[in-house]
Amino acid sequence: LPRVRFCPSPTGNPHVGLVRTALFNWAFARHNEGTMVFRIEDTDAARDSEESYDQLLDSLKWLGLDWDEGPEVGGPHAPYRQSQRMDIYKDVADKLLAGGYAYPCYCTTEELDERRAAARAAGRPSGYDGHCRDLTAEQKAAYEAEGRASIVRFRMPDEPITFTDLVRGELTFTPENVPDYGILRANGAPLYTLVNPVDDALMEITHVLRGEDLLSSTPRQVALYKALIELGVAKEIPSFGHLPYVMGEGNKKLSKRDPEASLNLYRERGFLPEGLLNYLSLLGWSFSADQDIFTIPEMVAKFDISEVNANPARFDLKKAESINADHIRMLDVKAFAAACEPWLEAPFANWEPEDFDRAAWEAIAPHAQTRVTVLSDITANVDFLFLSEPVFDQPSWDKAMKGEPAALLTTAREKLEAADWSDPESLKNAVLAAGEAHGLKLGKAQAPVRVAVTGRTVGLPLFESLEILGKEKTLTRVDAALA
Ligand code: GLU
Repeated sequence: LPRVRFCPSPTGNPHVGLVRTALFNWAFARHNEGTMVFRIEDTDAARDSEESYDQLLDSLKWLGLDWDEGPEVGGPHAPYRQSQRMDIYKDVADKLLAGGYAYPCYCTTEELDERRAAARAAGRPSGYDGHCRDLTAEQKAAYEAEGRASIVRFRMPDEPITFTDLVRGELTFTPENVPDYGILRANGAPLYTLVNPVDDALMEITHVLRGEDLLSSTPRQVALYKALIELGVAKEIPSFGHLPYVMGEGNKKLSKRDPEASLNLYRERGFLPEGLLNYLSLLGWSFSADQDIFTIPEMVAKFDISEVNANPARFDLKKAESINADHIRMLDVKAFAAACEPWLEAPFANWEPEDFDRAAWEAIAPHAQTRVTVLSDITANVDFLFLSEPVFDQPSWDKAMKGEPAALLTTAREKLEAADWSDPESLKNAVLAAGEAHGLKLGKAQAPVRVAVTGRTVGLPLFESLEILGKEKTLTRVDAALA
């Protein structure tokens, strides 16, 4: 059974590219009844943070992406934080050195830079030139005596490396494009190039699904894997699948630093996890030619890595919002009402949490559910119900009150006072009749009523809103507008 891994570095805030990678790994594991391993690649003490680590865990939980092995749940290959596995990497590095798969490299940064510049100028490949590949014991001793520091480099084979990418098909990298590379720093600290494949090997990962930005490290990892197999550390080279780039504004690669890349933004705006995951599924994959709204269990049932498209995917915020809106409509109304509560409980404008009126909220929720795109839209739609006075949007007010609506509002007030407040139809007829009395169609006649009562020109169905607000408050607000 397949074993996949999600192995972020805890730096910065989680972003959508990361979530897409987590999602595709998770869906692959769940579809194939495999194992999802969650590993934290925290070997860069200067950049990693506990805060970022906590956010990663919290984000995956919010999204409902669970893991079978990793932080909090443990597993047979614990620990799952690389910072706690340093002895393992040291041991493997020693074996690689002893077996001649790796060697100490004494070149200084200045020497490397100089030779790289010379190679470029001569039109030769500018990667590491193998200077320290085959030093004799005497040469090494001489460098040591000079007091030079050394890093450890992995010796790439002299033949091309070929592997079949699950998304891109067969790929071949020639040796001049993949020079020997560092696996330990001069201070002995292991690099990503070592720890990532070593852990994949030890954790018996069968499928490495990750972003296209890591494609260039794959031939190195395949070569390292071969060495690990010869040393008895690894059993088999995993399959690799590289997920396409995600392009943002202006057809530039979406960067972690783009505001729309931040996962927190979607959470704060009130995306549903299932709406966001539905959207992110479409970045490189498609559910079917004629359906792009689906549930996550439906996605899992259909997910196939070989159907992932190698072409860059385009990030489209409008589409993400529209998919989210569809997921909001799909909720059971009780679930919708509950999902909105964090936004209704938070005090905002001049609303205090104690103004929250649950009965009114439950009555208006079905009307709101068909109109919001993200849950945070809810406050502006229903605040008129809870505030002692509506929040007047000045441009709306000016627009609706153009042309002296006082006469109309006075008539509407009379008719509303006499209407049947248990029936929105009766309230509508009252406003309709007031409009007729002043030569106005319903649409024009209801605008000043809506602004007087809700503060805005657009909103939820007006007559249902009035009924839920109640006769007394409605008439008081019309009076205030007339005053
Ligand atoms: N820690 C690496 C990253 O976050 C993981 C890359 C990989 O999946 O191999 O970029």
